[in-house]
Amino acid sequence: MLELRPNCECCDRDLPPDSVDARICTFECTFCVDCAETHLEGACPNCGGELLQRPRRPAAKLVNNPASTERVLKPEGCVNAR
Ligand SMILES: [Zn+2]
Ligand SMILES: [Zn+2]
Repeated sequence: MLELRPNCECCDRDLPPDSVDARICTFECTFCVDCAETHLEGACPNCGGELLQRPRRPAAKLVNNPASTERVLKPEGCVNAR
């Protein structure tokens, strides 16, 4: 199951589970659409994989399958992997 991390790893912006602005890689590194499409050019800075829109979990399913509350942040900032 996806963790649904609560923030962008680059800029620490909040990304709630119903956000359409969340982007994730295959390892669930999580970024906002602004960082993913501009600064990172669609590539995860950690693994080099593609960043795609994170699927939203229906609200009714969040009751028993809640989103992660553990914030992941790169303190040194994000570097473009390309
Ligand atoms: Zn961001
Ligand atoms: Zn990654």
